[in-house]
This record gives sequence, structure tokens and C-alpha cells, in this order.
Amino acid sequence: MALTGMAIYKSLPKTNCKDCGFPTCMAFAMQVAAKQKALTDCPHLSDDAKSEFADASSPPMKLVQIGTAEADVKIGQETVMFRHEEKLHNSPALAGKIAASLSDEEALARLDALHNARFVRVGDEVRVRLAAVELDGLAADAAAARVKALDGKSCLPFVLMTDNADTMAAAAGAVAEKRPLVYKATKENADAMIKIAADNKCPLAVSAGTLEELADLVKAAKDKGVEDLILSFDGRDTANTIRNITIARRAALKKTFRTLGFPSMVDVSVDDAMKETVLATTFVAKYAGVIIINGTNGSELLPVLTTVQNIYTDPQVPNTVEAKLYEIGDVSENSPVLFTTNFSLTYFCVEAEVERSKIPSYVAVVETEGLGVLNAFAGDKISAEKVVKTLDEQGVAGKVNHHKLIIPGLIPSFRAEIEDTSEWKEVLIGPENATGIPAFLAESWK
Ligand code: SF4
Repeated sequence: MALTGMAIYKSLPKTNCKDCGFPTCMAFAMQVAAKQKALTDCPHLSDDAKSEFADASSPPMKLVQIGTAEADVKIGQETVMFRHEEKLHNSPALAGKIAASLSDEEALARLDALHNARFVRVGDEVRVRLAAVELDGLAADAAAARVKALDGKSCLPFVLMTDNADTMAAAAGAVAEKRPLVYKATKENADAMIKIAADNKCPLAVSAGTLEELADLVKAAKDKGVEDLILSFDGRDTANTIRNITIARRAALKKTFRTLGFPSMVDVSVDDAMKETVLATTFVAKYAGVIIINGTNGSELLPVLTTVQNIYTDPQVPNTVEAKLYEIGDVSENSPVLFTTNFSLTYFCVEAEVERSKIPSYVAVVETEGLGVLNAFAGDKISAEKVVKTLDEQGVAGKVNHHKLIIPGLIPSFRAEIEDTSEWKEVLIGPENATGIPAFLAESWK
């Protein structure tokens, strides 16, 4: 049965010392009850409390870190099956593959391409977050030399990929301080791979043909002290993998079956870019924490990264930008003035289209509690009066030598009231969609 915050609080020292990073013991207890912290994160917990509560209060899915504090990827610690139940916590990381067949020079160039596979979308940087270094076919010393050559050339944490234990031992030992993911332990090599992960204090991916065999591998690894585990599935066997990955997640989250209480990963790397994109996007939704891919082109990565960004935002928190006056480009007193709402997607669409127009402009952002133009209007979060007040507060009139204001085409009814009640005497009704802004400015702002 789930522990309540109060039951957990009673087991704490109640000193409010803040050593756990929370201001009070009660605040920490609520996080433990929400499965966001383990009870053992309180360093002052009594041994009695530890043995009584620790297991029951741990998150049902372990948080696993690949890399070190300076550059890491954290996955897992999910608490729900679906985003709408609460939110999803740690977004999946794309791992770009560096093939073993590449020369050292080509491998470095490939790492550089992965490092630079990053884009700004809706104000956030989205990117490839791991380098999956394939080592199959390389001798042990060549594998160690390869990962050493790549180490230090990028902050991307490594996934080391080989089923050969000798090769893995050399490579993992060469970059152990980088805390790479050892990928992967199978029925055939389990003892050796578990030992490598334990000796180098690295996370370990485990892979098996059935969930029962996977559970056996997890138990074997935990018995040897390897606790940072990732359940690995074959992403190209789509139907089977979706079934198994869903069963494992459901067992962990709904039944608190701790043997499968670890994040999952898939390898979807195929030569067909379109197919790889579809597979990767599928497993963003269902339920991979790491996704190994080949592609580095924006046309392939952006649909996947956009899906990650969409699914891993908190549905209970509006996605907003600061409500203030933005200067886009090298503005002057002759620049156009537009306004929009503080919903991130709306603002960044407007910003991008103003940039595309190449006409420097002021964009006044009105506080609408994170709603877009039409929703804000329907929900009574924006009015002509509020727009005028916002423009006054932001001192917009003092920055330009004209009285023209461009309003969103979705709320043309604001024109009369703004013209009647403010110094903005010439209100122009702009396009309904941001994509129309360049043509509108080119036509109306000569
Ligand atoms: Fe309370 Fe422990 Fe956190 Fe200190 S570290 S505030 S005792 S929960």
C-alpha cells in the first residue's frame, strides 16, 4: 500500500535541517510520498526507519544516471503510465551511433556531428544527448584507443556497445571516470558484463529474449551490487517490444514489481531514415528512456525531438514566456509594433515569422496565463483594455514615432476600442496565422 506523506513524516528526524535539499522534513516527506525521492535521501534517517520504510518508499522505477554530474543523462523515476495522469519526469535521450567500421578520423567527425545536432525550438534547446560508440569487431586495445580518442572531444556521455566482454572491459576501463553505459549484458555474457559494470561503477543495460529471462538478469546484476540498470529491448521488433516494454512498465508502476522497476531503452538504428524516425517517435511515446539512432539530419531528428518536447512538458503548468516588450532585430522609432499572448508556442511562432520578415519589430507580450490568442479571448484573459494597459506599462509609445498598432487577425473586434481609448489611433488587423506576418509586414509597412 502506498505510504502517505504523514506516515513518512513520522519516521523522519523532524529537525528541518535542509540537508536533503528541502526546506522542511514535511516537504521532503511529500516528495517521498509522490515517489520523487527515496526515503534514504535523508542522511539522518534512523536504522529502524530505514528498515521499516525504505523499500516501500522508494520510487517504483529507479532513476538511472549515465555520465557524471558535469555531463549526464538521467532517465527513469517515472510514476505514471500516461502523461495526463500527472506528468512524465525524465525525457528520453537520443543516442547517436558511431559505427565501429569508421576510421578514427571519421569517428571524431561523427562525434562532432552528434555534438552539433542541436536545435532551438519554442525557446528550448533540443539535441542528441548521448554518443553510442559501437565497438563490435574491434580488438580490446583498439576499442580502448577508440573511446580514449573520443573522450574529451565532446561532453556527450557514452553508451559503449559490444557483446564481447574482453572488448567491453578494455573500453569501459579506459573511460570509467566518464561513467558510460555498458551495453549490454545478455544470457551469454552476463557474468562478465555484470563484473565490468561493478568494477567500473557504471550503469548496465540488460537484454533477454523474454521478460522472465530479463528479470533473472536483473536479479543477477543486483546480487552483484549493480543497481543502475536499464532494460534493453530490440526497437526494430516493434510490436513485440511495445508489448514487453508496456508490461514491464505496468508491472513496475502498478504492481511495484521492483525487479522490472528500471527505465527501458531501444536500438532503432536502421539505414532507412524515414523508418528510423517513425520507430524513434513511437518509442518516445512508449516508453523508452534511451533511443539509439543512426541519423543526425534535422529532418530526421526534429520530429523525434519535437515529440519528446511535447510529451515531457508538465500538462499542469502553462508553457509561458515573460510578458514584456521584446525587440526583434535592430529596432528603431520607425519599427512596427505588434502584440501577442504569453503562450510560448504562440510567442515563438510570432518571433520566428517577424525574424523571417527581416523587418525589425517590437512585440508586446500580454499576460494571458499561458493561453493562445483565441483561447485567451474565449476565456476572458485578454481584452482591448488589457492590451492598452500592457502597452502603457511596457512604455511602448515612447519607443516609436508613430501610433500604429498591429493586432492579431483572430481578434479584429479589438480595433475600435483600442483606437477610441488609447493613443494607438491606427490599428491594423494583422494575419490570423503567424505565417502571414512576413507578407503582411512587407505589404503594410513600407
Ligand atoms: Fe528533515 Fe532529513 Fe531533510 Fe533534514 S535531511 S530536513 S532531517 S528530511
